[in-house]
Amino acid sequence: MTRYSAFAVAREAFRDHQGWTRAWASPEPKRKYDVIIIGAGGHGLATAYYLGKNHGIRNVAILEKGWLGGGNTGRNTTIIRSNYLQDPSAAIYEKARSLYEDLSQDLNYNVMFSPRGVMMLAQTEHEVRGYKRTAYANALQGVKTEFISPARVKEFCPIIEIRGPRYPVLGALWQARGGTARHDAVAWGYARKCSEMGMDVIQKCEVTGIRSDGGVVKGVTTNRGDIDCDKLGIVVAGHSGHVADMAGFRLPIESVALQALVSEPIKPCMDVVVMANTVHGYMSQSDKGEMVIGGGADGYNNYTQRGSFHHIEETVRALNETFPIISRLKMLRMWGGIVDMTGDRSPIISPTPLGNCFINCGWGTGGFKAIPGSGWATAEMIAKGASGPLAAEFGLDRFREGRFIDESVAAGVAH
Ligand SMILES: Cc1cc2nc3c(=O)[nH]c(=O)nc-3n(C[C@H](O)[C@H](O)[C@H](O)COP(=O)(O)OP(=O)(O)OC[C@H]3O[C@@H](n4cnc5c(N)ncnc54)[C@H](O)[C@@H]3O)c2cc1C
Repeated sequence: MTRYSAFAVAREAFRDHQGWTRAWASPEPKRKYDVIIIGAGGHGLATAYYLGKNHGIRNVAILEKGWLGGGNTGRNTTIIRSNYLQDPSAAIYEKARSLYEDLSQDLNYNVMFSPRGVMMLAQTEHEVRGYKRTAYANALQGVKTEFISPARVKEFCPIIEIRGPRYPVLGALWQARGGTARHDAVAWGYARKCSEMGMDVIQKCEVTGIRSDGGVVKGVTTNRGDIDCDKLGIVVAGHSGHVADMAGFRLPIESVALQALVSEPIKPCMDVVVMANTVHGYMSQSDKGEMVIGGGADGYNNYTQRGSFHHIEETVRALNETFPIISRLKMLRMWGGIVDMTGDRSPIISPTPLGNCFINCGWGTGGFKAIPGSGWATAEMIAKGASGPLAAEFGLDRFREGRFIDESVAAGVAH
């Protein structure tokens, strides 16, 4: 596979770009693999990559019913941060954030990680107390954040109206090394490396059944035939309930659509990510100049991947208060993704009741930022047969035992 470099770009410029090889192969499924991963979103691909890189397991297939990153991975608003309240969350999100720092070099693929800084606005006294508490917790966890004054908010982001009519800005939780990355590139970069390691990334291959014998997984049934495996990883986000059903167990998960939209492109006006959780909206500016805007999740369970007018209206109205500059912007596109929500708003990385079958799900509205750390932890679990330190607290048994990792209140909005 061609190594991407300035030299390669220059060389190809002299030969009409005829020398580039395909970024990943498109193989037919083999009869058997050591490990099958269902779902070629970021988490599934990262799991496969770290299985190969960290554990030397390369006889791996990643099966995707649609196209690479066509699920939530290619639909999110790309916010990366690790300023979570609870210790297990801060550990895995900070591991992920730190892996993002040099992911482009590691994958030899530009994922456009942009640590431009993320601020979560405090617009009520309750939020001020909550974010100060998170800043103290982060200090203990080794995650660099600080609570900043309204004046510094204005300095970092001049387009914010800090004296808003309903909700003035009272400060913010600021993470200077949080930011964004190009979501498709994260999926593509991992897929390319998996393919380079000899793994089979197989698109348009839908898993329709899971076969087992004596309580141990034997393989999967797909629209392209039966495929056997020694170990199985289910990494399908909003479809987790369906696939778990095929494996014979239930999950404490609800699937709902989460929506986002982008405006027409405008000149650079905002070089940080801002989350305004009280009015419920968050915004950043893409490299193209579009304002990337995220809203809330639908209030009812569903499997649509569309946006809806009432959400746009609600989100844009909310953001108008804090960013009057957007009031006359045209909105260009809207879409939805099916997110997998747990009751405590924390993920599940766990062995399952079916032997040699493992699951990674429940990232809900905030799993893009976690992709490298989640893949790292899930690969370790699949390779060793039990969760390592990063994933230990995220097992399915926490719901039976009441050991919740409650990020729902701490995060306000979880992206
Ligand atoms: C609008 C929106 C905004 C968001 N904003 C952010 C954000 O700013 N920051 C953040 O950190 N997170 C955000 N998220 C959440 C984030 O996108 C997800 O948590 C993350 O992408 C989940 O990745 P995944 O790999 O688990 O799932 P997905 O990317 O959904 O991948 C799962 C894959 O499994 C495949 N699949 C399903 N069933 C089968 C089957 N039977 N056989 C084969 N393949 C199957 C699907 O086709 C899909 O490609 C947002 C999500 C949405 C929808």
